[in-house]
Amino acid sequence: MSRQRHQVKPTSARPIRTPAELVETGLVTAEDVAGIEAVAQRYAIAISPAMAALIDRCDPNDPIARQFVPDAAELIATPEERDDPIGDLAYSPVEGIVHRYPDRVLLKAVHVCPVYCRFCFRREMVGPQGLGTLSPEAMDRALGYIADHLQISEVILTGGEPLMISPRRLAEIMQRLAAIDHVKIVRFHTRVPVVEPERIDKALIAALKTSRKATYVALHANHPRELTPPARAACARLVDSGIVMISQSVLLKGVNDDSDTLAALMRAFVETRVKPYYLHHPDLALGTGHFRLTIKEGRALVAGLRGRISGLCQPTYILDIPGGHGKAVIGPDAIRQDDAGCFTVSDFKGGRHAYPPAD
Ligand code: SF4
Repeated sequence: MSRQRHQVKPTSARPIRTPAELVETGLVTAEDVAGIEAVAQRYAIAISPAMAALIDRCDPNDPIARQFVPDAAELIATPEERDDPIGDLAYSPVEGIVHRYPDRVLLKAVHVCPVYCRFCFRREMVGPQGLGTLSPEAMDRALGYIADHLQISEVILTGGEPLMISPRRLAEIMQRLAAIDHVKIVRFHTRVPVVEPERIDKALIAALKTSRKATYVALHANHPRELTPPARAACARLVDSGIVMISQSVLLKGVNDDSDTLAALMRAFVETRVKPYYLHHPDLALGTGHFRLTIKEGRALVAGLRGRISGLCQPTYILDIPGGHGKAVIGPDAIRQDDAGCFTVSDFKGGRHAYPPAD
């Protein structure tokens, strides 16, 4: 979306879900709406009130708008893009489970979200026309699979958005996981503390915890402005309750592809007591080419974070290998070995040093 948006208009108190509502709230011009309608036929739209309020309607390149406001470019697919870019379906032994690594599984109970990110790697699976919610029978089979596989020590609830599940149902899922001895860790991948912070209340927090398992919450945020005071307060409620928080972000052209923004984002996580964990290279999801930078550009940005922000603030730059082959660390190498077996190590200013030193 490159055209100037309308001047500020009142923000809706409920999520924006249709092209008409995008125009009413000043997020899309009447001129652009035809292209957006074609996108809406194919991909779900939702912008939560918190995110709609954060968008600067006077900035045609606003990084929050870019993440949530549909763009006609989403209908342009390139040959290398795929409808299941990280190969979930190839590693799904029963509905709702992805078992890619020996010791952990994804449990995908719902495929709805409070916002629909325009770059989502599961965009063909989420939304009202997506894979839906696991039926009670399918949930029984998914939990049965976890119980039958003794090597599974970690269960990652993802989706869709697992924190859209009611506290009552979440507590039920947690109790059933708590009863499986070999499961030690339950992790939630979520955008809720940022996009709908008011949802993080006592009932939800109580549902996420059990005395028998460690609970981790991985927060997805991509721009430092997303860490608003209400978002930080929601994270504080989680952390103060004993839940460990880590981050995940996607490196996105036009959102966070400059070192100032990335450094500010990682610092904001640490200030919020969220340990930076993964910085994902964008996946080859259909119609997301306008968000992708090259791996060379990504590595240069990540190299720029060394020295600039502390070790505590450093994320790991990773690529999900297309086809479901898992994650690979693709960050810049600080050390190289020549043909004679000697090492050269780079410092954070780009200086090179032999290791061990000659003197
Ligand atoms: S919240 Fe997560 S699953 Fe939902 S649209 Fe955004 S990236 Fe995709």
